[in-house]
Amino acid sequence: MTESYTIQPAASHFIGGEYVEDTTGEPIDVVYPATGKPIARVHAATPAIIEKALASAAEAQAAWAAMTGTERGRVLRRAADIMRERNRPLSVLETWDTGKPLSETLVADATSAADALEYFGGIAGSLTGEHIPLAGGDFVYTRREALGVCVGIGAWNYPTQIAAWKGAPALACGNTMVFKPSETTPLCALKVAEILHEAGAPAGVYNVIQGMGLVGRSLVDDPRVAKVSLTGSVPTGRKVYQAAAAGLKHVTMELGGKSPMLVFDDADLDSAISGAVLGNFYSSGQVCSNGTRVFVQRGIREAFVERMIERLKTGVKIGDPQDETVNFGPISNARQLDIIERYIRKGVEEGATLAYGGKRIGNDGFYLEPAIFTDVTDDMTIAREEIFGPVLSVLDFDTEEEALRRANATEFGLAAGVFTKDLERAHRVAAGFEAGTCYINTYNLAPVEAPFGGSKLSGVGRENSKAAISHYSEIKSVYVAMNPCEAPF
Ligand code: NDP
Repeated sequence: MTESYTIQPAASHFIGGEYVEDTTGEPIDVVYPATGKPIARVHAATPAIIEKALASAAEAQAAWAAMTGTERGRVLRRAADIMRERNRPLSVLETWDTGKPLSETLVADATSAADALEYFGGIAGSLTGEHIPLAGGDFVYTRREALGVCVGIGAWNYPTQIAAWKGAPALACGNTMVFKPSETTPLCALKVAEILHEAGAPAGVYNVIQGMGLVGRSLVDDPRVAKVSLTGSVPTGRKVYQAAAAGLKHVTMELGGKSPMLVFDDADLDSAISGAVLGNFYSSGQVCSNGTRVFVQRGIREAFVERMIERLKTGVKIGDPQDETVNFGPISNARQLDIIERYIRKGVEEGATLAYGGKRIGNDGFYLEPAIFTDVTDDMTIAREEIFGPVLSVLDFDTEEEALRRANATEFGLAAGVFTKDLERAHRVAAGFEAGTCYINTYNLAPVEAPFGGSKLSGVGRENSKAAISHYSEIKSVYVAMNPCEAPF
């Protein structure tokens, strides 16, 4: 049976430095979003596999943490080099797994994972504590210590990147990891594990096991786990946060959003349209930080919509994502396609104008035209709820104060963007945004050097940058007395 699959992995799980199979676990068919046909089959982790992964990570942790940061960093940097050398096959795999066009995956996935491995590999040797002088010559020194076994749980839109964004800082700090990818995209994280092992990560340092939410839940509940980092939706975030709280575990929550993008009438219109394209249609709109509420100042609204539609008509090439000239692929899975189509119908029902696209294409695969809604008001469902698809809503505004107030009137706070040539306004608006990741005259860039994450319901903690280090390590204070110990009696 397995021989008939296009890209069958060596086995379902990677534990203790090797591929491990247990076919008694529930089968998970990997479906290629461009055809709707299965291309691989893996099996969900059984209790025995979950135990093996956690035991392996727990056993490896002390020795990994005892290595110098420089030694750990060398492993990560080697893994980054291997990833870059294999960018093409890794990108092809990412495209099989997610349906994102190869033109995107070649520049955005293994490359982004390699950046994270290189960045955290580079700083691993400089993670230190501090010396705090006190009265009488006493002093405190602090040690930055690993948390222990960390669990990473990923969403399906960026499977390689998410596996590395969580793994790289965790490993740099001396933790070990058990990572569970989304059941819809199980393939790429296995390659991250394989490459880390090849680069010299000892057995058990980075493990990948497959499964649905229940497997994730078992990992979160296990007392050996010190930290959980989730990328997923707000409802899942609530559940995982709650389960982690029972053991007072550290958490990072990278959750959903409904981010605003403000386009003022002095903005470079083509640049703002490019921002709206990046913030709504890249990866067929399946990006958590997307600026899906595009507030356009009334005077330029007509021109903005007209040129935006023109850009889609002339620029979008929909087709087989493995064809490098294609720049718009299918939706990642049938369930998500159904969710997006329901939102589009709801938008129309509630009185918004579907100004462009939004129709299904063909019956094979999960293709959907990019959609633009105009005449959208703040109270409409499509302006309030995360759609996680290629659906852009245009809203009008008159004043800066009004636009900012409406932009912030959401329970989410992942990202926000402003397009204007007015320098003072740009910084004033960025300061006023209630969001963790803000953009001025661009959108959706996520370099590893900058903190990334959300406020309000969009998350807890930050990924990337030096900020991630504090989420994967803790500080121990050691008080050193230089005088005899005194007591009241
Ligand atoms: P889900 O929340 O459905 O799932 C996320 C992961 O959590 C999956 O691996 C899922 O497993 C697992 N999971 C589900 N239930 C539990 C549970 N009770 N305990 C432990 N793990 C569980 O998200 P999607 O995969 O649908 O991804 C889309 C969402 O992710 C969007 O809301 C998007 O905004 C968000 N996202 C956020 C990003 C950020 O950085 N802020 C980046 C990318 C996406 P399974 O699916 O296999 O059942």
